[in-house]
Amino acid sequence: MKEMKKLVMASNNVGKLREFQALLAPLGWEVIPQSELGVGEAEEPHCTFVENALAKARHAAQATGLPALADDSGICIHALGGAPGVQSARFAGEPKSDENNNALLLEKLQDATDRSAHYVCVLVMVHSADDPQPLIAEGEWHGEILREPRGSGGFGYDPLFWLADLGQSAAEIPAQLKNTLSHRGAACRHLLERLKAQA
Ligand code: IMP
Repeated sequence: MKEMKKLVMASNNVGKLREFQALLAPLGWEVIPQSELGVGEAEEPHCTFVENALAKARHAAQATGLPALADDSGICIHALGGAPGVQSARFAGEPKSDENNNALLLEKLQDATDRSAHYVCVLVMVHSADDPQPLIAEGEWHGEILREPRGSGGFGYDPLFWLADLGQSAAEIPAQLKNTLSHRGAACRHLLERLKAQA
């Protein structure tokens, strides 16, 4: 049997880890969370998703000497000039709270007629800390911001994220459907295409 190549995941989110393990195992990659290798979280000081994902991937590769994969995601509201963007998790400040973030978003959009928004996910894979050509894969998911939350599935801004085609919010659709439609699903598919082309 061909030996698995090790890849460190620059995230300690169990859900994401499982998802990436399942996706990458068929391509011969064993995905290991950075915490298992004693790597702490990297700073995310940048104003773009791609820079933050690259910083996290590079940090994990530097600390372990292994290839590394990182993601960064968030929601961009058109009427707010793309905010909260990379600040999505902490839109309403510390400690992180989905409920407070959603309340603040509704407040800021009180008078907005343009309620269009999109989620973004950027995945970055580096073969080493000084890899001059990181693999970058992006996905977007477009919708509109509701005037009140609907549904109890998903997480984050999903109860406010309206999918007009489906007549449901992202918190009302089954998890499996979300995975096929979402920004994260799209970014994962793009990454897999790139990795398969390289294999
Ligand atoms: P992270 O990249 O997993 O840290 O996500 C950053 C933040 O963006 C999350 O804390 C959420 O507020 C928001 N976000 C990213 N993806 C989603 C999603 O699929 N649904 C709802 N909120 C999301």
